[in-house]
Parts: sequence; C-alpha cells; structure tokens
Amino acid sequence: MSKTSGITSTGGADVDAVVVGAGFGGLYAVHKLRNGLGLNVQAFDSAGDVGGTWYWNRYPGALSDTESYCYRFSFDKDLLREGRWKSRYLTQPEILDYLGGFADRYDLRRSYQFGTKVTAARFDEKDCLWHVTTDKGCTITSKYLVTGLGLLSATNRPAFKGIDGFKGLTYHTGAWPQGVDLSGKRVGVIGTGSTGVQVIIALAAIAKHLTVFQRSAQYVVPIGNWPESTEKIDGYKANYDAIWKQVKDSALAFGFAESTVPAMSVSEQDRERIFEDAWNRGGGFYFMFGTFSDIATSPEANAAAADFIRKKISQIVKDPDTARKLMPVDLYAKRPLCGTDYYDVYNRSNVTLADVKSNQIAEFTPGGIRLQSGAEHALDVVIFATGFDAVDGNYARIDLRGRGDVTMRDKWKEGPLGYLGMMEADFPNFFMILGPNGPFTNLPPSIETQVEWIADTIEHMERRGARTIEPTQAAEDEWIATCRTIADMTLFPKAQSWIFGANIPGKKNAVMFYMAGLGNYGTALRAVKESGYGTMIFDRTPTLAE
Ligand code: FAD
Ligand code: NAP
Repeated sequence: MSKTSGITSTGGADVDAVVVGAGFGGLYAVHKLRNGLGLNVQAFDSAGDVGGTWYWNRYPGALSDTESYCYRFSFDKDLLREGRWKSRYLTQPEILDYLGGFADRYDLRRSYQFGTKVTAARFDEKDCLWHVTTDKGCTITSKYLVTGLGLLSATNRPAFKGIDGFKGLTYHTGAWPQGVDLSGKRVGVIGTGSTGVQVIIALAAIAKHLTVFQRSAQYVVPIGNWPESTEKIDGYKANYDAIWKQVKDSALAFGFAESTVPAMSVSEQDRERIFEDAWNRGGGFYFMFGTFSDIATSPEANAAAADFIRKKISQIVKDPDTARKLMPVDLYAKRPLCGTDYYDVYNRSNVTLADVKSNQIAEFTPGGIRLQSGAEHALDVVIFATGFDAVDGNYARIDLRGRGDVTMRDKWKEGPLGYLGMMEADFPNFFMILGPNGPFTNLPPSIETQVEWIADTIEHMERRGARTIEPTQAAEDEWIATCRTIADMTLFPKAQSWIFGANIPGKKNAVMFYMAGLGNYGTALRAVKESGYGTMIFDRTPTLAE
C-alpha cells in the first residue's frame, strides 16, 4: 500500500483512518470521515462489495422487521425524499440496493479494498499509530481505527458429529451464496430464531419437504407486511422531520411510541383487545413494547403476553401435538420475532417439526440427520439458521492489541466491555460502531448517532492537536455497571439468547447492551461532549519505554 500524507496531527501514517466494514456503519463512517472531515481513509471488508448484513444474508425470505420508512439513514433529506419502497418492510435485495446506491451517491467504494479481512491491529505506543494487518499480507498504519464489524455478523455454526460425511449440501443463512435454488428439495432447517422463522416461511412454499429442527419454541407474532401506496409513502416523506425526532428521542427507535400503560392496570378484556389489535397490526417489537410498558420487566405482564400467543398457536395449528411442541413455556424475553403466517406453516403436509430439545440431534448421517431416538430425517440440504457469535464475535476473530500489547481477547475474557458502546480503555484512537454496551434498538438510527459522535470526537482531537484519546478505566467501569443495572431491571437476562451471549457454548453470560434506549443514550453522548470529554484521557503517557 502506498504511503500517503495524512492531514491529521500525527505525521508518518499511511492514512488518517482505517475503517473496517461496509455495512450501514462502515459506509457512513467513511462518508463522515473522508467526505465530511477530509481525512484520508482506507477501508476494508472481507465481503466482495458493500452491504454488510445484507450482502451476507441472502437466504430466501430475508427481510427487515423495522418498517421501511425508518430502516435507512436520516441525515440526508434529499436521500430521504428519493427513498423508494413497495411494502411495509424491506426485502434483502431492496436493502442491498439501497446501500449500493448510498455508496454510489457518496463515491464510497473507491476507499474500500473488498475481499480483504483485517486479521490484526496493534496500537504502537512509539509512533502512536495503529498498525493494521490484512489477510492479503499487507500492513497499513493509521492514526484512527474505526470498526463497523457488525453485531450479528460472525456466524455460529455448531459442530455436529458426522457433518463431514453428509452427502448433501449445507448452508449458513449468514453466509448465503448467490444462485441457490431449493425448490423440489428435501430441506432441513436447524434454528427457529428471527432468521429461522423467515427462511422456514419462505421454504415451506417451495421445498419438496421441509423438516424444522426446533430446539427452543419461540413466541412469533405476525409481521403485518403489506404493500404501501405512493400516498402513504409520500405521507412519511412529508412528515420526516417529526418522524426522526420521535425515533431518536424514543427508546427503541422503531418509529412507534412505546406504551406507558402497565399491563395489569387495565381489565383482562381490555388487555385481550390490545393484544388482538397488536396481533392484527403486526410487528414483533410493537407487540412487546407498543402494547404495554412492562412486558419486558414484569413477570405478570410477560405471562399475559405469552398466554395470548400460546392461545393463538393452539387456535392456528391443527395437530395438537405439533401445537404443544410449538408453544414456548419460558419467558417472552428474547429478541421479539415476527413473520407472516408462521404457525400456519405447520399445517402443511410437506412440513415436519422435529423437537430437538427433548430428542436432540445425535449426528449427521450421509443421507440426513439422526436424532437421539434413532429417528432419521432424509435430507438433500441442511440450512444452519443457528445465528451468530453476537456483538464481540468479530472482535475475538481479530488479534487486537492496545497499549502495552494488551489484547482485546484478554480484556474481554469475562465478557465484552466497552465505553458508550464505542471505545475501550487502553485502546487509544479506537472507535467501534455497535460495539458492546451500545443501545438495543432499530439499528440504523443508533449507527448514525454513533458515527456522528465519532466524527465529532475526531474533529475535536484534530482541533486540539491531540495525538491520542481513550476513555478512563473509571468511566468505562461506571458505564458497564450502568448497563448491568438497567439490564437487570428487565427479564432479558433470564432468557437464554444471544443478547447476553447465552447462545454460544462456553461464552460468558455478560451484559452486552445499554437498554435505556436511544433517547437516553443520545443524552449520555451529548453530556460527554459538553463536558469537554471529561471522561477521556488525551495524550496519555505511553506505558512502554520509548
Ligand atoms: P454489518 O452490516 O454486519 O457489517 C459488518 C461488515 O464488517 C460485514 O460486511 C463484514 O464482512 C465486515 N467485517 C467484519 N469483520 C471483518 C474483518 N475482520 N475484516 C474485514 N471485514 C470485516 N437490525 C434492525 O435494526 N432491523 C432489522 O430489521 C434487522 N434485520 C436483520 C436481519 C438479519 C438477517 C440480520 C442478520 C440482522 C438484522 N439486523 C436488523 C441487524 C443488522 O445487522 C443491522 O441493522 C445493520 O445492518 C448492522 O450494520 P453494521 O454496518 O453495523 O454491520
Ligand atoms: P438466533 O436468534 O440466535 O437463533 C438461532 C437458532 O438456532 C435458535 O433457534 C437456536 O436454538 C438454534 N440453535 C443454535 N444452535 C443450535 C444447536 N446446536 N442445535 C439446535 N438448534 C440450535 O439467530 P438468528 O435467528 O440468526 O437471529 C439473530 C438476530 O439477527 C435476531 O435476533 C435479530 O436481531 C437479527 N435478525 C433479524 C431479522 C428480522 O426479522 N429483521 C431476521 C434475521 C435475523 P435456541 O433458541 O435453543 O438456542
């Protein structure tokens, strides 16, 4: 890589900033730092092009469950005005197209080297630069390192016995190749999370036979996806100022007002009516947070919502044994799920539900999957909808070293840390987009908020002529404690899911999100800036001898 003169206050670097990732986060970071601040930026993605999540997750049925009008950037009013969509929710090809158009609009691809994985990044205290190494054998130096590695990006592919001997094909939904046609095939899907639900709905209609390997039954409500008229879309566009203000001041940033009414404060009849209305309206987050204020915090409210969904399952699914297997008995406290006619799928004659909690997957055989009972399911294709090593998964895959050669793997061995979901003590000039302990929301508005804060912070650094910035350990400890306290006020830590790292065998159960919402998060970020970055250390004395 050729050496270019950076414009930052640290001379001698190849570039001012390295950005990793070409999803919503990385793309916006390149735009803000290069086009906004005039920095010299080199960006990388292991993918062949832009898109991040939407580049990798091309599985049949892949869809956003944030409504189309607010699963996008908000900073450019012309871009908002030009927005095009057909239905209430965006399909994967539409989002990929949107991000491709975004890259074209701001000429972002020229800053990227695609098909290139960052394998290591080391902060050198002697030159105060990041030394970033890729799998292409190149090392580049930069003052700033900004990572948009994705929080649902490092795929989790459980190692099943016998898998190497399976004669059919296997795919992980999060690394889906182009051009796969599953029509007429005997397909098995392992996993019934958000992804599983979508791929199951899509494949039931085209597979010769679909076997769903369900470990945990899930609470799934209708998504409510329908075409949106030009008038409706124009209405959003005319109202965007108010919409984005509401989104960014709200907790979940999903574009609806979260309920302030406790579930038990209304009569049982009213509660049923409110749940029924939400069922007909559609939306997983709406069902959990738009109906009542305490479904995620009060066991009684949670049980009422869970009972309602179980009742729906018993009404929809014709075979009582299948209905019973589909009914979750644990808390309704994972990432809320939704889909179109999900439970109806199990009334189809070409769909079989295998409950692999009571009867686990024993092994893959050459012709399919054998359960512990000895029952074998013959399959041509097995789809792993088994999720992700979420939030810190991609960080663990990079040899990331800060001051004194401290490794991120070591710092995070009891669970990921992170200040404001963006920074880490002992890792100077390092900024994560959607790093650990950031907000739990519809993500593009949080990404925007974070990238804008990062750009402001870098601008502040350059105006001040500072060489390094990093949070104090005390500030980071306080932030983590705050995140823990807030999370413990909810029922989420009691459920086994990726949100607390419970889906990966051996991963420590740790707090990974700031659950007080985007509005409060924005206030916290502004407070840091307005305090003159009082929680940060500028130009800290190196810990290593020169
Ligand atoms: P990503 O889009 O995940 O991009 C990260 C990029 O970093 C990837 O392209 C990856 O290749 C690259 N990368 C990682 N490590 C390296 C490395 N070492 N070297 C080089 N490149 C690297 N969120 C919502 O708010 N609403 C939704 O409806 C929604 N639907 C989703 C549906 C699916 C199927 C999935 C998987 C996630 C969904 N999400 C949704 C979450 C989604 O991930 C975010 O909304 C958003 O797209 C994240 O953008 P990002 O840029 O932070 O990360
Ligand atoms: P996930 O929620 O972690 O679900 C993974 C599924 O695989 C679970 O059903 C899990 O069962 C199962 N599983 C994992 N290992 C298994 C094993 N060894 N044997 C059997 N089953 C196993 O992952 P995901 O569905 O990919 O979703 C991850 C996140 O991505 C979502 O929560 C959401 O944030 C985002 N997403 C959003 C959408 C959307 O609607 N817009 C779509 C897809 C993804 P257990 O539950 O028992 O662990």
